[in-house]
Amino acid sequence: MSPNLVLYNVWMKNLFLWVSLVSPLLLAACATIPVSGRRSFNIVPEDQELTLGVQAYKEVIGQAKVSPDSTATAMVRRVGERIARVSDRPDYDWEYILIDDPKNQNAFCLPGGKVAVYSGILPVTKTEAGLAVVLGHEIAHAIAKHGAERMSQNLLINLGGQTLEVALQKKPAETRQMVIQAFGLGATIGAVLPFGRSQESEADRIGLIYMAKAGYNPQEALAFWKRMETASSGQSPPQFLSTHPSHETRIRDLERWMPEADQIYKNTPK
Ligand SMILES: [Zn+2]
Repeated sequence: MSPNLVLYNVWMKNLFLWVSLVSPLLLAACATIPVSGRRSFNIVPEDQELTLGVQAYKEVIGQAKVSPDSTATAMVRRVGERIARVSDRPDYDWEYILIDDPKNQNAFCLPGGKVAVYSGILPVTKTEAGLAVVLGHEIAHAIAKHGAERMSQNLLINLGGQTLEVALQKKPAETRQMVIQAFGLGATIGAVLPFGRSQESEADRIGLIYMAKAGYNPQEALAFWKRMETASSGQSPPQFLSTHPSHETRIRDLERWMPEADQIYKNTPK
């Protein structure tokens, strides 16, 4: 075999390796987020992400007190279903729970469409449109895969780029804790942590579009966040209200995205 042919063979083998091993990883690593169009870094396979979401949801509801208020529970389901239907993942196995915890002004949505609302936020949401602001925002976190994005960054930075599977085997307790935090949940079940600033802002934007598509007046988002700001100025600020983006930035951004949301709302059959 001539040296050139050997080189050619080596090159072809490398190319084959690259195409079969590296490029699927790169493709998988770059996902486009709906509505915002941002490219995000994600190396957590969706089946693993969804399995972890289901496990975390089971942990939360296993320790939670389910609300006895059937009217409010039906409202959570109704608003959630309307948003889920128009979201970019109507195919998820959506579940909704209202947790009886009047002091907890929180809500979250885990990967795969597992939604939980704490009863303490209902006096702030006030109306179904107000609840649609919260659910739109939380559902947006799940659909934009913000948890998997945080997990991917953690795997790369703290665990030397190993896969989640390996990390779970080698350091199960630490990895489990990392997963819970990546989903925006604190070590104490019921503590909902804010995501990063850009993820929070992205969830606001996607949530605004989803609520408009679901037939809720997006202008209600401005009123809701103002109520949330007032509710947070008391002795114990709600964890749901993240310190970032700041209230002013959040309102300014929502006003910037409002014309598009208004247009969608106008064209949505009521
Ligand atoms: Zn959020």
